[in-house]
Amino acid sequence: MLLPLLVAFVVSLAAFNSLLAYVDELVHESSRELLPAVTLQADVQKVITLLRDKTNSVDTYLELEQYIFSIDHKLANLKSIDFGHVEEVDAIDRASLTWELTRDTIQNIPELKRQQNNDELELLNDALNDMQVELDVILYVASEEVDVIVDQAGATRDRAGMQIGLTLLLALVMASLFGHILAQSILHPLSLLHDGAEQFGKGNFKHRVEIKSHDELGRVAYAFNRMAVRLDRSLRSLRRLSTRDYLTDLLNTREFYRVLEAEMVRAQRYEESFSLLLVDADHFKNINDTYGHQSGDKVLRMLAKHLRAQVRNVDVPARVGGEEFAVILPNTVDEAALKIAERIRLAIAESAVELSDQEKTEVKVTVSIGLAGYPRSASDVRGLFHQADMALYNAKQAGRNRVSIA
Ligand code: GH3
Ligand code: MG
Ligand code: MG
Repeated sequence: MLLPLLVAFVVSLAAFNSLLAYVDELVHESSRELLPAVTLQADVQKVITLLRDKTNSVDTYLELEQYIFSIDHKLANLKSIDFGHVEEVDAIDRASLTWELTRDTIQNIPELKRQQNNDELELLNDALNDMQVELDVILYVASEEVDVIVDQAGATRDRAGMQIGLTLLLALVMASLFGHILAQSILHPLSLLHDGAEQFGKGNFKHRVEIKSHDELGRVAYAFNRMAVRLDRSLRSLRRLSTRDYLTDLLNTREFYRVLEAEMVRAQRYEESFSLLLVDADHFKNINDTYGHQSGDKVLRMLAKHLRAQVRNVDVPARVGGEEFAVILPNTVDEAALKIAERIRLAIAESAVELSDQEKTEVKVTVSIGLAGYPRSASDVRGLFHQADMALYNAKQAGRNRVSIA
């Protein structure tokens, strides 16, 4: 961002330097040509004044000596200058010649005055005035040169002003552009991070902060996203832990009741029917007693496997007690539900569980099933579950390994 300002500074400096060069030239021109010519003219004018002065004192004579000496000196000085224009050289030559021709007579001015030689004095006056005219030529040409320099300096000043103005404008535009880019490269990622934090705060751990840069903000975004992945994983495993039964991985009792409530609300809204099966292992206590608790667990896992295999995708099997299971059959009336229940019962009754590879011990188990239907059996969750439980009781009473309808 500082670069445009630096350029503006350099341009200003260059312009300032070129203006200074003109000032130098101006001073040089003035001190070299203008100043000697002007002071010479002043001395000549003094001599003219003395010439016209009526008094004729000793002081006048001394003054005249001084001016003649000064004019000698200044003329020699002017002649040594390398003038740029022929007019100037010619003018100084003519002035010198006039001076050389009249110098001796000028020294005699006091004497001429005493003699009242007015003709001679008038001639001298004319000659000195001629010198002034020649010096005027030098002044005129020199001041014209100065005018040219002043004009050039003015043009340079205008051009420099324009350049500085343009450079500053450019610097301003570039600075605002850089500022905008800088703000974008920080503000946009920051707002993405802010959105991400808000999404994560709402529990949406599927959200990702899309910053691909490799700078600090990119690293923060990467850390954010990794955190979201881990939180998402933890959340999912927590959800699973809180809704699943650890032994069979079926829904646990609490989740089963939640789904049952939801299914009842849905069925009420769409005026649909659904069925509920309660599946209980027969004489399961005996299995535990005979083969041990671990073998009993293995049998329970086998029962869960059969339940899952025999129901449709839309059905919801769950473990609702020690050796008791339930299945919600959405949009299913008694006849179809009975078929599914029979299928489950038969699949279990016809299979056996191999307890250990060495002993080749096989355990056979049967289940009794109670079936209740919404809205036929009951129109609330507690009532429906009670009806299914009663049907299960009836199945047990009737000799087990059978399905009973509420
Ligand atoms: P019924 O045919 O009348 O249902 O007889 P039952 O023996 O199956 O019924 P009861 O209620 O008398 O016994 C249930 C048994 O299930 C008692 C308990 O040891 C066993 N049980 C409950 N939960 C588990 C479990 O998680 N693992 C194992 N291995 N056994 C369990
Ligand atoms: Mg039992
Ligand atoms: Mg039981």
